[in-house]
Amino acid sequence: MARIIPLADARVVRGTAVAVPHAAAPFTPTGTLPDTRGRMLRDLRVSVTDRCNFRCVYCMPKDVYGHDYPFLPHAELLTFEEIARLARIFKAHGVEKIRLTGGEPLLRKNLERLVAMLSDIGGLDLTLTTNGALLTKKARDLKDAGLNRVTVSLDALDDGVFRAMNDVDFPVSRVLDGIDAAAAAGLNPVKINMVIKRGVNDSEILPMARHFRNSGHILRFVEYMDVGHTNGWRMDDVVPSAEVIRIIGREFPLEPIGANYPGEVAERWRYVDAEGADAGEIGLISSVTQAFCKDCTRARLATDGQLYTCLFATHGYDLRTLLRGGSADDQIGNYLATIWSQRADRYSEIRSERTAALPKIEMSYIGG
Ligand code: SAM
Ligand code: SF4
Ligand code: SF4
Repeated sequence: MARIIPLADARVVRGTAVAVPHAAAPFTPTGTLPDTRGRMLRDLRVSVTDRCNFRCVYCMPKDVYGHDYPFLPHAELLTFEEIARLARIFKAHGVEKIRLTGGEPLLRKNLERLVAMLSDIGGLDLTLTTNGALLTKKARDLKDAGLNRVTVSLDALDDGVFRAMNDVDFPVSRVLDGIDAAAAAGLNPVKINMVIKRGVNDSEILPMARHFRNSGHILRFVEYMDVGHTNGWRMDDVVPSAEVIRIIGREFPLEPIGANYPGEVAERWRYVDAEGADAGEIGLISSVTQAFCKDCTRARLATDGQLYTCLFATHGYDLRTLLRGGSADDQIGNYLATIWSQRADRYSEIRSERTAALPKIEMSYIGG
């Protein structure tokens, strides 16, 4: 018989156990699991590696993530089998969509095998966020394995600005080729995420809008956030979404359109063309100036199996110990239900210069 790990001991701050109360009674997976603010568990982001081939200045600055940075050893990463097992359990508790992320997810060997395993579960919307560097090579295999769509991060079209942002001298042309490969493979609509840092790439807002208008891809402008504690975030570096709309609106009139589904992170705007032609839409992700915590249905599974209920959480819950300690699926499911039902996170609603300075988990580890 499988050994049972005491579930009350499994909350961990990167290695430090913190007691968590047991649920009063076991939960039956119903697919509708509200937290303390009535938010259902619907999305899971899985970080498949904490490593990256870029050193974006706002995410993994080179002076911190240099040669001797202690990335996780392979044995500490969840295996594909472990991720797929958790995905089944999360699905039973309401998760409908899984996003693979990282670090750079395409650095994880044979990622398409994991995609195929998740696809076999059935009924899950499978997506991936990538810097696009390896997409030309991987797009077709990922699509064939069952990936539905892809989001590519691209912070500039100007090669010099892009190389300065990724800080590894990576040329923008190869990411653009990756976007083309994703579209050709059928991973549509491709979403393009541009994080804007004032004074670094805000000059690229209009060129990006011009380039992706009419392309069939959806360009989304992301406010620079105070994730982690290594990027030296300051409020002055944030370009508010309202400013982005003003900048683009001067050249291309825009009008707001409704969300595709409740809780959609990006606010949608469409180009109003004089001829009424469909010139596409853009998205604004305004986590700093317009917090969307009240609709946040996302959980995050870090590379080593810690579960986080908020991007800005300071502690996680150790699912890997349960997986490797012989806990049964319903025990892990009950534990998940206990964690989610006690969730009260709303960091972006209470963000201040003071909270920004608090120690937080790095995005590359927790999964962006
Ligand atoms: N490496 C992949 C990539 O860049 O697409 C996936 C992981 S990355 C952490 C996920 C997303 O988080 C990217 O779109 C990235 O631009 C975004 N991101 C990272 N640091 C951020 C920050 N400080 N503020 C806002 N977005 C950030
Ligand atoms: Fe790597 Fe993505 Fe972070 Fe850039 S944003 S450093 S590509 S994990
Ligand atoms: Fe969700 Fe936390 Fe972001 Fe709010 S701050 S939207 S709770 S991840």
